[in-house]
Amino acid sequence: MNVLVINAGSSSLKYQLFDTATNEVRAKGNCERIGIDGRIVHKIPGKEDYVKEIPMPNHSVATRILVETLTDPELGCLKSMSEIEAVGHRIVHGGPYFSESVLLTQEVYDTLDKKCRDLAPLHTGAHLQGIRGCLDVMPDTPQILVFDTAFHQTMPPEAFMYGIPYKMYKDYAIRRYGAHGTSHRYVAGEMIKLMGGKAEGTKIVTCHLGNGSSISAVKDGKVLDTSMGFTPLAGVIMGTRCGDMDPAVVPFIMKKTGMTPDEMSDFMNKKCGFQGISEVSSDCRDLEAAIAAGNEQAKLAMDILGYQIKRFIGAYAAAMGGLDAIVFTAGIGENTASIRERALTGLDFLGVDFDRAVNDKTFGRSGVTKLSTDKSRVQIYMIPTNEELMIAQDAERIAKSVK
Ligand code: ADP
Repeated sequence: MNVLVINAGSSSLKYQLFDTATNEVRAKGNCERIGIDGRIVHKIPGKEDYVKEIPMPNHSVATRILVETLTDPELGCLKSMSEIEAVGHRIVHGGPYFSESVLLTQEVYDTLDKKCRDLAPLHTGAHLQGIRGCLDVMPDTPQILVFDTAFHQTMPPEAFMYGIPYKMYKDYAIRRYGAHGTSHRYVAGEMIKLMGGKAEGTKIVTCHLGNGSSISAVKDGKVLDTSMGFTPLAGVIMGTRCGDMDPAVVPFIMKKTGMTPDEMSDFMNKKCGFQGISEVSSDCRDLEAAIAAGNEQAKLAMDILGYQIKRFIGAYAAAMGGLDAIVFTAGIGENTASIRERALTGLDFLGVDFDRAVNDKTFGRSGVTKLSTDKSRVQIYMIPTNEELMIAQDAERIAKSVK
């Protein structure tokens, strides 16, 4: 089945066209600068990239241009739009309302619009524009929504509740939701396949480490706990996000600096983490270069992340009552051996034993790689994530079920 996967941002619309029979990406690209001026970057395997400035006043026009490009005799790979049999949308926040991927209906649209928007205003607004764009251009094609929060909906209340009055949870839905759920689901699923295919009885920690990072405890194939919280600001330090800290730090900094709540939120999201600690960069590769040149703050930033990952692994092993596997994925998890090494060193007491030489040589492009030694009680893997493939597979399954 040809499935178009859409990831709509406020001024961009990233897309990938999958053939789900082979899991092959037939085309991918990005409509950028929507509402500003407009440009499409379109890639087809074996062909030269196509880049063109085209006015894109809104997401409907961007969708029309991308469908026209996909069906263009020169640039495209489809004969007509009807060959797109389903559209899968990545949705950042489904709140407590969506615990799995769903077919778009008016009711689903309204829940997203009226109830989820509050939880992630910028992202949800952009997703709704992307959905409307596809409805305008492909009104008869099933649209499936795949939520970043859905996989985490199996968390029990003791893992998702905060220590604030219950009324706050009831009135404002304040609780832990987590993020990157589609990535955690993908790599946990691949790890379970490597362990023989039976989810029951498995205890896995999945580490999605990128610009944004989150760590999950996946027991019996279901999330028991995860490090991100009400928003993606929680958990370990990230490229520019602060991660967990004493909540009293927030009003303290606001009083000292005179920042407003919005400015403080912006500060915690954009000026902290690697960037704030190192004062060099938010990017791991720049930090590694700075460390090689003797920069102590860059080393401190990397040490903090490694330490915090280790702490989550230990905590989640305790929460699950054991540990069978650790998986690393996303930009840093796949490519930055020194972070994996920091996180895994000293976990011998849990039965963790990894091969440093293999770890040093492992990058995302290596494909799935076993990092643990044969005597390790815990299996350790680097598994490149593939959120888009998960979205395409969900879209195919749900589209077939309504045919
Ligand atoms: P995002 O959360 O934006 O999707 P990524 O998963 O692309 O982020 O991760 C970006 C991080 O991964 C950066 O800190 C980057 O330095 C790090 N990284 C290290 N090596 C690579 C690489 N070869 N390719 C991409 N990112 C890498």
